Amino acid sequence: MNTARTLLSIKGLEIDYPSQDGRGRVTAVKDLNLKLSEGEIGCLLGSSGCGKSTVLRAICGFEPLKSGEILLRSAVVSSTSIHLAPNQRKVGMVFQDFALFPHLNVLENIAFGLQHLPNANRSSAAMEWLKRVALSDKADAYPHELSGGQQQRVALARAMAPEPDLILLDEPFSSLDNELRERLAGEMREILKANNITALLVTHDQFEAFAIADKVGVMTDGKVLQWDAPYELYHKPANRYIADFIGRGVFVKGIVQSGGKVKIELGELDLEEDRSQEIGNEIEVLLRADDIQHDDNSSMQAEVVRKTFRGADFLYTLKLASGTEIFAFVPSHHDHAIGEKIGIHLVADHVVTFAD
Ligand code: ADP
Ligand code: MG
Repeated sequence: MNTARTLLSIKGLEIDYPSQDGRGRVTAVKDLNLKLSEGEIGCLLGSSGCGKSTVLRAICGFEPLKSGEILLRSAVVSSTSIHLAPNQRKVGMVFQDFALFPHLNVLENIAFGLQHLPNANRSSAAMEWLKRVALSDKADAYPHELSGGQQQRVALARAMAPEPDLILLDEPFSSLDNELRERLAGEMREILKANNITALLVTHDQFEAFAIADKVGVMTDGKVLQWDAPYELYHKPANRYIADFIGRGVFVKGIVQSGGKVKIELGELDLEEDRSQEIGNEIEVLLRADDIQHDDNSSMQAEVVRKTFRGADFLYTLKLASGTEIFAFVPSHHDHAIGEKIGIHLVADHVVTFAD
């Protein structure tokens, strides 16, 4: 059982901005709810402009609320009538471009947030945080002498050093090389977890979100559609938008059968109990790339129409007899040509359906 206390709660958050023509207001965030427990890492995932940074700025205390409230522990820090100053909130922020001070060395950058300590203790406390991000040998270096990944760890140490209750990270990997991102996301997760830090990050990259977060909220148009563990989002998307947004998949037609089953072109699947339907109904069934397995011995055939080499596997696009196209991940030693027919079978264990 999870007994951790709630650290951040956001209830019915709504924020708007003046419109471009200056005549009205446009809503950037609406009816947004989420809860983060102590030590948990949350992530808001959504495309550019959906309101992610606005939420972070509101938590920091840089945006007035139109309605709703933000609580840290059990104290309201923002509402329509209460607004605690940013420096009173014990919230740390890591910016997209890291925003390190270029004229200060690494140790001085971290010590900057430790003004409350006596001079003599400041450097040793900063050094302690440098060790925790495995950069103690870079104390005298200047930001421009560091790699992107190292700069990011300095920014993280600088945010952690004043020991805030909550750290917010705005697209923390977006300025880094692609191949670095996933590794650094894992590394950052380890650092945050080792120091029992509660964090909320925002990103448009699903792989980052899944690599780092305990809970992910899929955002669109200023709303969080589902706030859940990555596994649940992937296997039990609450609606069609999320099913489409997360992972690789297609919707195929299915007809509801007796005995809690649904029949699709590739065979019969068990319906989830809570999604039971009237017999004979036409519904849509989500087929993920990992629900389809290649099997040279299977009599069910599909034609390879496209393939993308991904290293360990191929992402094949396969055409069924009806013309429907589906995806499949296939180990890369099964290198089939485009136009070739290959055997497949269905291995879906979670069946996600939506009314047609
Ligand atoms: P994201 O971080 O997801 O890209 P933002 O929170 O930055 O999204 O922006 C959400 C929406 O609010 C966008 O339509 C953006 O143009 C608008 N917006 C953000 N900041 C301001 C501002 N200071 N003034 C007016 N509109 C803004
Ligand atoms: Mg943003």
